[in-house]
Amino acid sequence: MIAKVEPLTPARALRGPFDYRLVGALEAVGVGSMLVVPFGNRRLLGVVVGLAERSELRDDRLAQPLAALEADVPETLVRLGLWVAREYVSTPARGLALVLPPGTGTGATKPVRPKRSLRASLTPLGESLGGEGVAARLGPRQRAALDALAGGALGAAALSRRAGADHSTLRSLERRGLLRLEHAAEPPRRPRVEGVGAPGGAVALTAAQSAALRAMIERLGAPRPAPLLLHGVTGSGKTEVYLRTVAAALDRGRSAIVLVPEIALTPQTAGRFVERFGDEVAVMHSRLSRRERYDEWWRMRHGEARVCIGPRSGVFAPLADLGLIVIDEEHDGSYKQEADPRYDARAVAERRAAEEGALLVVGSATPRPESVLRYDRLELPARCGTGEGPGPPPFEVERIAGAAGPGREPPPVEVGEVVGATGPGRGLPPVDVVGMLGAAGPLHELTREALDEVRRRREKAIVLLNRRGWSNFMSCRVCGRVWECPDCDVTLVLHREAGAVACHHCGHREPMPRVCSECGSVSVARHGAGTEQMERSLGELVAPLPVFRLDSDVAAASGVAAVLRSFEAAPAGVLLGTQMVAKGHDFPEVTLGVVLDADATLRFPDFRAEERTFALVAQLAGRSGRGSRGGRVIVQALDPDTRALRHAAAHDSTGFVAGELERRRELAYPPFGHLIRVVCSSSDPGPELAAARAVGELVAAARVPVLGPVPLFRRNARHRAQLVVRSPDRAPAIAAVRNAVETVASDRAHVASIFAVDVDPQ
Ligand code: ADP
Ligand code: ZN
Ligand code: ZN
Repeated sequence: MIAKVEPLTPARALRGPFDYRLVGALEAVGVGSMLVVPFGNRRLLGVVVGLAERSELRDDRLAQPLAALEADVPETLVRLGLWVAREYVSTPARGLALVLPPGTGTGATKPVRPKRSLRASLTPLGESLGGEGVAARLGPRQRAALDALAGGALGAAALSRRAGADHSTLRSLERRGLLRLEHAAEPPRRPRVEGVGAPGGAVALTAAQSAALRAMIERLGAPRPAPLLLHGVTGSGKTEVYLRTVAAALDRGRSAIVLVPEIALTPQTAGRFVERFGDEVAVMHSRLSRRERYDEWWRMRHGEARVCIGPRSGVFAPLADLGLIVIDEEHDGSYKQEADPRYDARAVAERRAAEEGALLVVGSATPRPESVLRYDRLELPARCGTGEGPGPPPFEVERIAGAAGPGREPPPVEVGEVVGATGPGRGLPPVDVVGMLGAAGPLHELTREALDEVRRRREKAIVLLNRRGWSNFMSCRVCGRVWECPDCDVTLVLHREAGAVACHHCGHREPMPRVCSECGSVSVARHGAGTEQMERSLGELVAPLPVFRLDSDVAAASGVAAVLRSFEAAPAGVLLGTQMVAKGHDFPEVTLGVVLDADATLRFPDFRAEERTFALVAQLAGRSGRGSRGGRVIVQALDPDTRALRHAAAHDSTGFVAGELERRRELAYPPFGHLIRVVCSSSDPGPELAAARAVGELVAAARVPVLGPVPLFRRNARHRAQLVVRSPDRAPAIAAVRNAVETVASDRAHVASIFAVDVDPQ
């Protein structure tokens, strides 16, 4: 038997798979096994990505693996890792590294432990089933495993070869009481008593929650369920719906993955899953030690934990019989990895769910246009559990008629009127948008009054400083014009030292303007200010109430959780911070939310600017007025009449997304077109541009539209040049970029350059 092994090396040039001959005990390895193999005069760790009867190499040229690791990866995940490598134009080794047990990464020097041998035998129940596997609703591999065992106990490795049944298949048969698994070298394990925790919480679901839950459970039973979008305002009880859907998946003998943005920022959500499902839950987060991470991985791999809660990397959890993937706060930017492979966990989840027949549920109060367009939508229109007030309005399980799935023609987008009742009816706070043009100082009169009221009544407020608003841009003091890129519909960023404004999207640049070309005014403002300054002004305004500052500097020093705890513990005060303060915390006593410089995001060079601005305001509004005292939100903006802000003030995300889709269709932006960015860099000027030109020519030769190359600003002392591919046809565009980059990267003429490819840049 021949194993096709992909070596785990960071080198882009070294491409497997390479053939190795399997003899003796190693004949038992399968796809997903991890082997230590000789490679030249080195030893490398590798993953088996395929098996074959014979090799094209002569027998005496075939080496044998040195050992197999104890841990192995499910075959489905090997395929997923290789898919990520292709889809995001990375290397097989880097794609596979994502699915390996924690700590095994792309190194070769990790401790190797012998593979423990697991033996399986039929229980009396399994024996009594005979050939009735079909009746017991078993999958083909499960049936094959039972058939193979009818002849007597077998090692797991042999079973894997004979019946294609991997560990997790065996574990699920074990759970059904059909077979017994024992470690040959260990005392037999007691069969695990399965309990799915408390059945539901104490709360009775609202009508809207019940309807959403019913729809999800219905799809959970379908063989190839189409994804669902749970579109629920903040506080509408989405988490409770997830919890019960996960319980339903477990009841059906299946496992579930729940992705959350950052556990450090949203400990409450993860906590609720642990509370409900106990040991069934494996929690992955960055604070775990490598050993702890490995142990959680092991528990999932062997069916001991069947629910994974984690950030984006949780999408690669080694769970078998996957029934459900939930992505909470699906709009969150942290689902995109910013280092190679630059994968998007939302796209990976969609792929994995489709491959494994699992249901994908994504949820948000501010869903992405991509999801609204492509997924069937369930709505939770009102907050629940706020106590007083009228109950939620009549609900509707809405399926957008003709919603387009992958490959289907998108429906016409209707730009809705801004409707949606503000506040009371749905338990959401009223939002005032105030214009700052010509305002004296950073705080509007209305904001000052509201903060003063918080001070007098000893309440709590959250003030969100739009970080990007404190980056540099230019505007006209007289007419309000903001300098934009002629090609990209985004704002130009001011680079003071260079004396220029530039587009970070396409690279367009022009000299810093001195005169407004709209109105001729010479009063052109350069923006950019400090956060500590705001902390001081707020402190003076609300004294003696304390101000808690939360931004990335503070977070790095004392930890986000510490700051949030002090704010929570204080009887009154103001939490001031960047985007972080708008994430899913639940502070019932907050009565005022303020967004400073809300439309600053719009001046950021990014076609997602509108979406981000809307989400920011809507999410902050979600933090205010959760308690019985109610609350309000004030949004300060240069232009209060901006579309994103009008919709945010009306809590109208449906209308916002409709307009956004319209705009994106016109500009062929996602989801109507696909963007791929290629950045070539080198330490000396010159090679990066030559390499980018070479890549661009090859891409264009494949008849894929490409813009550039354009020089980018130096970063990390490297000279950079960028190409942007914008195409309606995804697969051919990715293939063209992959071929071009691989060709140029292996050309000796371009050794001085490094290549970074970003598919679906955020
Ligand atoms: P979301 O995730 O949609 O922002 P949560 O799931 O955090 O909302 O729910 C908000 C609050 O409402 C939580 O405190 C939750 O316990 C409570 N809740 C959820 N469902 C119900 C219900 N059916 N009745 C009463 N309270 C509920
Ligand atoms: Zn002007
Ligand atoms: Zn541009």
